[in-house]
Amino acid sequence: MWFSTWRRERILRRSALDECAWRAVIDRYPFTRTLSGEEQIRLREQTVLFLHEKSIVGAGGLVVRDEMRMCIAAQACMLILNLNLDYYRGWVEVIVYPDEFVAEYDTVDEDGIAHHVEAPMTGESWLEGPVILSWADAELRSGNPGYNVVIHEFAHKIDMLNGAANGFPPLHAGMDRAAWSRAFGAAFKNFRGRVARGEPTAIDPYAAEHPAEFFAVLSEAFIETPAAVRAEYGEVYRQLAEFYRQDPVERVET
Ligand SMILES: [Zn+2]
Repeated sequence: MWFSTWRRERILRRSALDECAWRAVIDRYPFTRTLSGEEQIRLREQTVLFLHEKSIVGAGGLVVRDEMRMCIAAQACMLILNLNLDYYRGWVEVIVYPDEFVAEYDTVDEDGIAHHVEAPMTGESWLEGPVILSWADAELRSGNPGYNVVIHEFAHKIDMLNGAANGFPPLHAGMDRAAWSRAFGAAFKNFRGRVARGEPTAIDPYAAEHPAEFFAVLSEAFIETPAAVRAEYGEVYRQLAEFYRQDPVERVET
């Protein structure tokens, strides 16, 4: 999908995003409140384009209202605030359940035994397929700083632009792949050790599960609690800032 300037302008001109509902979305999420006026306009435009291109549908009896669509789109667009919608190419659907949903899959353990697993999930991203979210988790904005299932799942989507999720998205021209590997490799190893020893960390221990989860969780925290990411893993923070082309700590402090 390639957005010509003309097409982009036309979609933006024709959109009728309710201003009141949009303000409510901005007020709801702490990380959108710190955006400058210019950045808020950009987020609004990305959100309009996102809603034009993607279909956000309810499942499990959930009726998806426009305001809910806007909430999901705005959070997803925080990651591409300074990139473009092309980062969400190749799929169209976001499926939203009222609450945690059950994912069923088959897996083979280390001893070669196959299991059929039914696990409650808050979010899921399919390679070249839909993003699935629990609205209860997508909406929840209290008590758990750094946790954001929408940003988490869309970070997986960006990671999957170059194949199965592995914590290595397609970097921009001019970014150093070796530097990315070094920063993430060392941080992941260190983080796993800390979690195994039960040491306290401001980052969700779920990040220790897999390099792909490390990237998704650190992307969540990069937007939600950026100072914690910079304090604990400065080199990872710098790589993320270069990749997402934004510096959220700077935003919070100015
Ligand atoms: Zn994940």
